[in-house]
Amino acid sequence: MIIVMKAGAVKKDKDEVLRRIKELGYTSHVIHGTTRDVIGAIGDERSKSALQALESLHGVENVVPILQPYKLASLEVKKESSVVRISENVVIGGPQIVIMAGPCAVESEEQIIETACAVKKAGAHILRGGAFKPRTSPYSFQGLEEEGLKLLAKARDLTGLPFITEVINPETAEMVAAYADILQIGARNSQNFALLKKVGQLGKPVLLKRGMAMTIQELLMSAEYIMSEGNQSVILCERGIRTFETATRNTLDLSAIPVLKGKTHLPVVIDPSHGTGNHHYVAPMSYAAVAAGADGLIVEVHPDPPNAPCDGPSQLDYAAFDALLADVRAIEAVRSNPR
Ligand code: PEP
Ligand code: MN
Repeated sequence: MIIVMKAGAVKKDKDEVLRRIKELGYTSHVIHGTTRDVIGAIGDERSKSALQALESLHGVENVVPILQPYKLASLEVKKESSVVRISENVVIGGPQIVIMAGPCAVESEEQIIETACAVKKAGAHILRGGAFKPRTSPYSFQGLEEEGLKLLAKARDLTGLPFITEVINPETAEMVAAYADILQIGARNSQNFALLKKVGQLGKPVLLKRGMAMTIQELLMSAEYIMSEGNQSVILCERGIRTFETATRNTLDLSAIPVLKGKTHLPVVIDPSHGTGNHHYVAPMSYAAVAAGADGLIVEVHPDPPNAPCDGPSQLDYAAFDALLADVRAIEAVRSNPR
């Protein structure tokens, strides 16, 4: 249920509503609007009529049910787009298209620092790099783990770029959060509800990838798991889903951008690297994503893609990344000045 406060409601009115919500066994989430506040009362749907009675309280405009199964993530609760702050000068969900770039995996100090400098020079805002790699085979390179996090932190110190890295289980989540600026939930873990709850409690921004067999509604339900733990800094990421098509590694569902924009206030980022699995397709899909309204891109860039220990075929070299960003900027300019 959403409790819409009157424009002139005072703190005392709001406090009373919050007290009653708690008394009824619901959790409240206050969303501050430009003219009025709304309070989301989230919990068991079965005793909704008790909440409806809050309509008679002083300062309450009305009480409306949230029709979607996802609540905090829905446009019903919050109509303005959410902006997720990553650092002093990087926000995701604002007018600027945010570019996250870096290798699939951190391999060595030299590799991550060289790549961080290259992507920064090209215009990236955030460094990406896997330290814990969720590989399909247990015999494949699993990442440098905490050593990888230290190297990412070193690259951040040198370049000023905040970094995003994947967290693969609740046991290591706190350790990853102690280093990273954004916690990535990968496609293989996006319905790992224990992990979602854990990152919901850590208070660091979370980039939530769509699972390869997940519907858009299920993606939003996973976002709800994080938000219902108190963390509203969630960024959604489309990274391709599994279909009958084998010409690409996954089928990048770019229609997810307008669909999500019609359902949620959360920012939407596209991963054309895992979405296609082929470096030739990364630029065209990035252009299409930006034109379709994506808030950002997360792109794999490697100093020597043919010799990368993972995802060699989809990673861009520096020259290709430079060219990509130049064209992304041109499309961004058209997008921000439509005819
Ligand atoms: C990644 O971004 O490193 C990754 C493993 O992606 P995904 O979870 O989308 O497969
Ligand atoms: Mn990869």
